[in-house]
This record gives sequence, C-alpha cells and structure tokens, in this order.
Amino acid sequence: MAVEYLRLSLTDRCNLNCIYCTPLEKDGFLSHAELLRHEELTRAAAAFVRAGVKKIRLTGGEPLIKKNVLELVRMIRAIPGLQELALTTNGLLLGELAGGLREAGLDRVNISLDTLSPKTFREITGHDGLDKVRDGIMKSLSAGFSQVKLNVIIMKGINDAETADFARLSADYPLTVRYIEFFPTNKRSARLKDALVTTAETKKKIEDVLGPLEQLPAGPGDGPARIYKLAGAKGKIGFISGRSDYFCGACNRIRMDCTGKVYPCLFSPATHSLRDLLRAGADEAALADYIKKIFLVKSNYKKDSASAGHIEMSSIGG
Ligand code: SAM
Repeated sequence: MAVEYLRLSLTDRCNLNCIYCTPLEKDGFLSHAELLRHEELTRAAAAFVRAGVKKIRLTGGEPLIKKNVLELVRMIRAIPGLQELALTTNGLLLGELAGGLREAGLDRVNISLDTLSPKTFREITGHDGLDKVRDGIMKSLSAGFSQVKLNVIIMKGINDAETADFARLSADYPLTVRYIEFFPTNKRSARLKDALVTTAETKKKIEDVLGPLEQLPAGPGDGPARIYKLAGAKGKIGFISGRSDYFCGACNRIRMDCTGKVYPCLFSPATHSLRDLLRAGADEAALADYIKKIFLVKSNYKKDSASAGHIEMSSIGG
C-alpha cells in the first residue's frame, strides 16, 4: 500500500502525564538541540509530501505546547501538494487556540479524552483540566474544522463504566467518538496490559445501553476505523482495533518523531533519521529520495512480528 499519511511529532513534552503514556522511568525531556526547529520540521514535511504523502497529522507529546505552533501550522499548510493537515491534541489548550488553528489552515482535529469525570481525569492524567478540554471540544465544533473526533481508550476498572456515556456524545454532537484499543508499548503501559477492553466488548456495552449500531461505509478520512452510528445521532462512532484485528495490509502511515527519527512501523525496531541530512543542508529532493527508500522497507514488518520494538507514545505521538 502506498504511504500517504505522515504522523509528525512536534515535541516529546506534554502538559499531562497519562498513566499509560509518558514512561515513569523517563528522566527528563530531550534537549532543545535535539528537537527539530520549525524550518527543519517544515522541510522534512515537504520532503515527505514530495515522496507521496498527502495527509499530515501533527502530534506529540502535546503539539499545542510547541512554541509558536500557529506559525508552524501555517508553514506546513503552505507545502504545495499537501491535501490535508490534521492535529491530535489532549485539548487543554484548544479553547484558546481552536480559532487560530483553523485560520492558520488546520483542516481537522482529534481530541484525546478518556473520561468525563473530573476525578477520573485526575487519576488518568495526573492533572485537573476536564473543563478546559470540554471548552476545547466546544470551540473546535464551532471553529469550522471539517471534522472533530474524540479518541477514547477504554480500560477495565478505570473508565469502562463510561463506555456508553461517550457514545451518547455522538448522539448529541456532530462528533466522531472513536474507541481505540489499548496498546501496551512501553514499561508503563505494560503494567496495565490486563486493562485491555476489546472492540467487541465495547460495542456490546454500547448496544446494551443505547440500542443497535448501524455500520456505515468507511470514508476517506476514516483510516483503519470501522464506522457506526446510533439511530438518529448527529455524529458517528468509530472503533480502532489494533489488538484484536489485523490491519497491516491497509496501513498507509509512517511516523517521524520530533528529533527526525522515522518509524516505518510500530512493530519494527528499525528507525532511520533525517536529522543529520536536514542539518547538513540536504535539499528537498535528496530528502525525498531517502524517504522513498524507507517506504520500501515498511512492508517487511507486521503486527506481532518478532521484530516488534519498544515504543514511547510520548515521543512519536500514538
Ligand atoms: N498529546 C496528544 C494527545 O493527547 O492526543 C498527542 C499525543 S498522544 C501520545 C496521542 C494518542 O496516543 C492519544 O490519543 C493517546 O491516548 C494515545 N496513546 C498513548 N499511549 C497509548 C497506548 N499505550 N495505547 C493506545 N493509545 C495510546
């Protein structure tokens, strides 16, 4: 499958400290010298577009804490040939930034939120801030983005009692609520491996409370999600089943972290770095040639292959 989708991590820093994400063992963040600057990130992004990428998603860490993020969004959006620019955020700063992001050219936004209870929010993220995230969701809905999605990870004994509450949001608002299966990738998340709730369990819980889900045909922006709708709902429900389903054959994505490391596959220990080339002044064409070679090795890896690596979501952005 052609690689057309880049997830670009802007920073490893985050303003939350989620139980499954930032490693407990992590001793400090990357130094500023290691992080790519705006101009380098933009040049790398342009080279990916030249190599065939059509859609870029900005992620982190928390991408909205990147200094002058609106300027960076404007620079990346101006890349000729880029069809879509999206962002994944925890939503804490969206209330103040949603309008500016839309004006800067951001097309779509995904907001990660695992609970609607202030107490559970603090337990999962280590911070208060649910009201700010709710404000961010509302501001995003009125900012004119082509789509607003909520990403939820349901974990047994932590937030599974709220499964149907999230689905209900899709009835009341024009949002897509996407249930993403928990995916242990580092030591911190491995401690929660028994918290996995499969898509089948989540779907049953929703239908038991809110009635049958009608499956919809997948749209161009749905990626590996299977899309459903509750009768009469304003929005939709999606399921991303990275653990219980197998979608390597349909995977068209690649990831680059905030230091220029490129990850062809979450199940691959292999990384390649663009940073030295970028800092040696390589032009877009030379960078694109290097990127095309990485695209070629992507299909060597697949889910649960023995090559599966250890991944810090806080560096590569999910
Ligand atoms: N800070 C931004 C946010 O919260 O959306 C972007 C980065 S965050 C790492 C991106 C996504 O990865 C979030 O939706 C988060 O829930 C998800 N994530 C992190 N660790 C995960 C794990 N072990 N399994 C599944 N999803 C994970």
